[in-house]
Amino acid sequence: MFSLQQLVRKNIWELAPYSSARDEYSGKEARVFLDANENPYNTPYNRYPDPLQRELKSVLKKVKGVPENMIFLGNGSDEAIDIAYRVFCNPDVDNVVAIAPTYGMYKVCADINAVEYRTVLLDDHFQFSADKLLAACDANTKIIWLCSPNNPTGNSLNRDEMLKVINQFEGIVIIDEAYIDFAQQLSMRQELVNHPNLIILQTMSKAWGSAAIRLGMAFASSDIINIYNKVKYPYNVNQLTQAQALSALKDPFEVDKWVRILLDERSRLIQAVQELPFVEEVFPTDANFFLTRVKDAQRCYDYLVNQGVIVRNRTRVQLCHNCLRITVGSNSENNELISALRQF
Ligand SMILES: *Cc1c(COP(=O)(O)O)cnc(C)c1O
Repeated sequence: MFSLQQLVRKNIWELAPYSSARDEYSGKEARVFLDANENPYNTPYNRYPDPLQRELKSVLKKVKGVPENMIFLGNGSDEAIDIAYRVFCNPDVDNVVAIAPTYGMYKVCADINAVEYRTVLLDDHFQFSADKLLAACDANTKIIWLCSPNNPTGNSLNRDEMLKVINQFEGIVIIDEAYIDFAQQLSMRQELVNHPNLIILQTMSKAWGSAAIRLGMAFASSDIINIYNKVKYPYNVNQLTQAQALSALKDPFEVDKWVRILLDERSRLIQAVQELPFVEEVFPTDANFFLTRVKDAQRCYDYLVNQGVIVRNRTRVQLCHNCLRITVGSNSENNELISALRQF
């Protein structure tokens, strides 16, 4: 049987969270707020924001089909990643298991929190095997990290293998879906009801075009979300971000339009890149970027920098020797990249 209490650090399970003025008062309409030592001047910036971002979550509930009490909002996905370590992993005792290569923040946060970070290499198609991942776990493994579509490889992970991990692992499985809005593959959000050990991360930074506002989402059981809310800073999502996110969420069709354009641009870009004589391979992608293997990634990267075009050189990443990661930009940005590459 799944027991959340057995997975959560004892000090966190027993934590009495900070109680802010805004937490304590949530009753009927009030006219005069003299409870938070705020300044009455400089509206609307003088008031502390809603610590639980209720209005924002009520809109996200409709957009994502996840009830409010199963949503955590943070200062980017990065906050949700860091909190996972602080909630579940005892420093110098527990460990986590992740695929490799993948997003770098899982390891950075493990290092910050003094948690052992174990990796299992993907295969030649950048896919993973649930059995191998599970074999890397021991009694102190608290979290398995999956990222689908994966960064920097771009591909979606095999859904049945992901489900196998969720079903067989007794700890927490976190699936980072930062690029899911670009993917053919469906989100794992609907699996949340059957799987109390699942956390899904999404973000406003990519398809929603809002990297600047720093808004990340975690979807999980209400029990996990309650613990996340105890551990986060009381006002972790500022008022400007909440207001701007609400405004962005009013127009989900705009996002659909951007995604369609970017996917068309992606096909066009990949086709042009594949024809270049120094390109050895373009790997399949389900995201708004793609990974490509060239003859000499460092030289190609340096050349592009000189032309004022910046891509990501991933040549030193495991399995990514001589690989560049290229983000799909606007039509004119992509044209600049293509014409620069044609003269390389
Ligand atoms: C870009 C990205 C994120 C987004 O992080 P934010 O902190 O929300 O901007 C998360 N995960 C992966 C794998 C990413 O590539």
